[in-house]
Amino acid sequence: MAFLSVSVIGNWFDSKYFFLNQEVISNLLFLIILILLPFSSFSEEISKSSISLSSFDHCRLDHPQILFVHFWDQRLNCDDAKEFTRVVNDVNDLVSSSSLFGLYISHLNFNNSYDESGFISISNRLINKRYIYSLDKTKTVWAHEYGHLIFQEIIANKFMPISEQKLAYEKAFNIALEIPILEDKIKFSKDENEVLKLQQEIKKISDESEKLYRKIEENESFKKLDLLFHPYAELYADLIAVLYKENPRAEYEVSIYPGSSEEEIEIASVRNFTVEHQLAGWKFSEKHGLLAPTKSFLYLKLWPLKYEISEKRNLLQIVFHSILSELENRWGTALEFLTPEEINFRLITKIKHLIK
Ligand SMILES: [Zn+2]
Repeated sequence: MAFLSVSVIGNWFDSKYFFLNQEVISNLLFLIILILLPFSSFSEEISKSSISLSSFDHCRLDHPQILFVHFWDQRLNCDDAKEFTRVVNDVNDLVSSSSLFGLYISHLNFNNSYDESGFISISNRLINKRYIYSLDKTKTVWAHEYGHLIFQEIIANKFMPISEQKLAYEKAFNIALEIPILEDKIKFSKDENEVLKLQQEIKKISDESEKLYRKIEENESFKKLDLLFHPYAELYADLIAVLYKENPRAEYEVSIYPGSSEEEIEIASVRNFTVEHQLAGWKFSEKHGLLAPTKSFLYLKLWPLKYEISEKRNLLQIVFHSILSELENRWGTALEFLTPEEINFRLITKIKHLIK
């Protein structure tokens, strides 16, 4: 018997603890993860609730922003996992946030990511090929992923198209959130007819959510928005991470490993703020490196001297407002389609204007 804890504090039901066999757990988690992962986002109503799912109970990550936690791997080192909440708190000192999110944690994998709808996946040790990074270096990646969540939140508050996209995810997520509740009812029901009805209802909800999710994925306007938005989001997340680490090379250092080829090192260098990436003729269009010349500019002209909190906050504010202004100027106009050089040039010009 393994232990599954499900607690939902909200309108639906009180905290409960269940003993379930491994098969039920796998099916339930698989279903919930399948349903929730792609749709997730959190509405005002959901923000008052919290769900925590864990196939083992020895590691609890209590944090007001973490809506639920799922551990993929029994080998997880709990002390390391708890470090994640410290990273969240430290990053909140730079840009205060109360954004809620679901957290997936594994022991070792490549899958450190932020799902735009509000989920963060982390491994408690970052691995590249066969090289396992230290916890200290892994924290850079955690700060980056959490930086994405913050950026999406603060941009959505000011920029309507991102806010609309967020709402679309919320709609699909809210519907899917009914599923674990119905699953819970099935577990306690002894009436076969009722179980059948509940299963049909789950199928209906699942289909409806899937339809909504497909609609988001196929929405041409959202696709265009993602293309415009992602390079800025990567710049901001990298900036959060290097300021958190107080090391402008921190992102670069977790992008290379002993035995990296020259080509891998060259590609990784777009994450390095200390390298002088030439603006003239800049062609790198991949989202993590498109704004590398802007990183060089920030390092040369605006880098915090002492890494005081006020310096870091100031830099993040300047970059945020410059990006916001660019999104507002470019979205829905001919300026959506610019070269990497032009995108950098415009953003650097905005930053210069703000620091005058
Ligand atoms: Zn990223």
